[in-house]
Amino acid sequence: MQYEAVIGLEVHCQLLTASKIFCGCSTRFGAQPNAQTCPVCLGMPGVLPVVNRNVVEFAMKTALATNCTIRTQNRFARKNYFYPDLPKGYQISQFEQPIAEHGHLDIELEEGSETKKIGITRIHMEEDAGKLMHELDGVSSDSSYVDFNRTGVPLIEIVSEPDMRSPEEAGAYLRTLRSIVQYLGVCDGNMEQGSFRCDANVSIRPQGEDKLGTKVELKNMNSFKHVERALAFEIERQQEMMEYDEPIVQETRLWSEATEETFSMRGKEEAHDYRYFPDPDLVPLVIDDEWIDRLQSTLPELPRQKVKRFTAQYGLPEYDAGILAGTRQLADYFEACVNQHDNAKAASNWIMSEVLRHLDDAREIGNCNVTPEHLAEMIALIDKGTISGKIAKKVFEEMWAGGKKPAIIVEEQGLVQMSDEGEIEKIVLEVMDANPKMVEDFRGGKEKVLGFFVGQVMKATKGKANPKVVNDLLRKNLAR
Ligand SMILES: [Zn+2]
Repeated sequence: MQYEAVIGLEVHCQLLTASKIFCGCSTRFGAQPNAQTCPVCLGMPGVLPVVNRNVVEFAMKTALATNCTIRTQNRFARKNYFYPDLPKGYQISQFEQPIAEHGHLDIELEEGSETKKIGITRIHMEEDAGKLMHELDGVSSDSSYVDFNRTGVPLIEIVSEPDMRSPEEAGAYLRTLRSIVQYLGVCDGNMEQGSFRCDANVSIRPQGEDKLGTKVELKNMNSFKHVERALAFEIERQQEMMEYDEPIVQETRLWSEATEETFSMRGKEEAHDYRYFPDPDLVPLVIDDEWIDRLQSTLPELPRQKVKRFTAQYGLPEYDAGILAGTRQLADYFEACVNQHDNAKAASNWIMSEVLRHLDDAREIGNCNVTPEHLAEMIALIDKGTISGKIAKKVFEEMWAGGKKPAIIVEEQGLVQMSDEGEIEKIVLEVMDANPKMVEDFRGGKEKVLGFFVGQVMKATKGKANPKVVNDLLRKNLAR
């Protein structure tokens, strides 16, 4: 029997606002435990929350960038449950009237491949809970502690339709979504640190069946790789259950990085278990068209649009455009480089190979020693024939290490390409004289030895000879 996987994702994005969602406390990371708290986020009786306007705007921007419809009438709702990191005994979230609904994202499995539309069910705003600590200063303890600094930090939850059919599609959706929230500047997208978190709902059904199977919720995956692996494991597990006629239980399962397996955490709770009801402390939030239009006009060019423009304006292949546009900082760097020296393909090649090879995180490109102006200047030196592509790699390494201008490195180290025909021909003849047997071989038809001669000439000139001139002169002299 052939099975089909059905996957939906819930993504929590921690918003990059300066203060919390319902009070003025700072959201800065790394402060002393409980230093960033007040009666509101500690859930003291009698306090009144006030919604942070920036949180609403960040949610609206995300909604617009993911083709959602923004609701004019919004309500916050209480989601009731008990946990020691939730002092109020409820989380303020949205339930029946979320800020945005009915959106979609276009994903592609590989840069330039056909796109697939993934529906977005809803986006809602909510507050984060605190954090339990089971050790103090790195030492395990008999007690547990609670840090409320994170209580009230703003989140948006983006819920997709169950439109994905493979772990790879889920990965592509997450990458696309992360790139968008990073472009918008609403979330840093850091999965490892938990500011971009993903839960996955997955079920399987026989190929061709319309009815959905029993879904399992997966949690605890803190990288794209782990999301894909956890889904692959879970799909396989459910297939085996189905083949042996064992019932699949609706439950929440945790991914274990150590064993690369999922294991049962608890039975899945239903929405009605939380006894949602509108929060009477918060007035309904009304969003008018003028507000939406104003935010729409502030949206930056988004990754998909940038890919289209890069292919049209600079003639880049889709693949290159996709890589460059995937990170806003990388795209800006590329354009700054091309503005200085008009050779887009060369700039793209250098960025995708040498620059990215040196960076762990493409967003850090603005902090590297090689400015776009310097890279452009180096490409101009290659285009003018001042240095060869091979020498340029050396120049690039020097630029990366020390931040010097390429022209200065070339000057200081005497790296100017040798293009003078007379000078090169002298060396060509010397090399031929030193290797009479090889000359005979070439003239006898062994064309392959040409490479040997090129190597010798380059060696004699410390790699500085213009390779095209070397080739031409060798052919001319060897042919005699
Ligand atoms: Zn507070």
